[in-house]
Amino acid sequence: CGIVGYIGTQAATEILLAGLEKLEYRGYDSAGIATVWEGEVNCVRAKGKLHNLRSKLEQVETPAQIGIGHTRWATHGKPEEYNAHPHMDTAMRIAVVQNGIVENYRELREQLKQKGHQFRSETDTEVIPHLIAEFLKNPPSVPQSFSPSDLLEAIRQAVNHLEGAFAIAVISADYPDELIVVRQQAPLVIGFGQGEFFCASDTPAIVSYTRAVLPLENGEIARLTPLGVEIYNFAGDRLKKQPRMLNLNP
Ligand code: GLU
Repeated sequence: CGIVGYIGTQAATEILLAGLEKLEYRGYDSAGIATVWEGEVNCVRAKGKLHNLRSKLEQVETPAQIGIGHTRWATHGKPEEYNAHPHMDTAMRIAVVQNGIVENYRELREQLKQKGHQFRSETDTEVIPHLIAEFLKNPPSVPQSFSPSDLLEAIRQAVNHLEGAFAIAVISADYPDELIVVRQQAPLVIGFGQGEFFCASDTPAIVSYTRAVLPLENGEIARLTPLGVEIYNFAGDRLKKQPRMLNLNP
């Protein structure tokens, strides 16, 4: 029900936790954070309140500078830790958080299972990391638009197969300098700092770090790297967009 993401030069975990706390008002039953550090995805999830997640994270603290976080309001699958986000692909190289619902997840799940993907949850969300992994492994043979990143291209392919209203954020151990976010009928804003970038379901999660924000529109994909932010549509065309300054003094 709430998404946060960070890429930059600071330790990500505390920024993500603080962001999730600002989104608590949206309601949730479980929470989780994934970061990339030393070539691996570290994924920690907990049922219940954020302090449960916080105490689990204290035992596995890393100085990772990229990560995603989520508070879940279950729609598909019980409110249990194994259904909490982030969700990963079979090889545990890709982590995804989602707000919303993937309506066609049943058929995608069956197709992906037949291709050997192993599912660990009951959620609609879990098809997303498996689908991205599938497109990374087997890119479509038809020529695609020029893409600066294989991860971006695989995510673009994947979201073109998803039906529903959703916002997602993705990181991968194999692409440690990329945080990719997608908006389709569920809110997502990007925050621009100095050599660091944020994403969140809502501005309260990021205003204490930056007031330069860009709300994504439906059908947009953003690629955040330590060097900047690029915005694309689902067809892969690059869009020219600038952040605006939030004025917090009425
Ligand atoms: N449909 C997803 C799930 O049940 C996401 C729910 C949410 O937006 O928190 O895991």
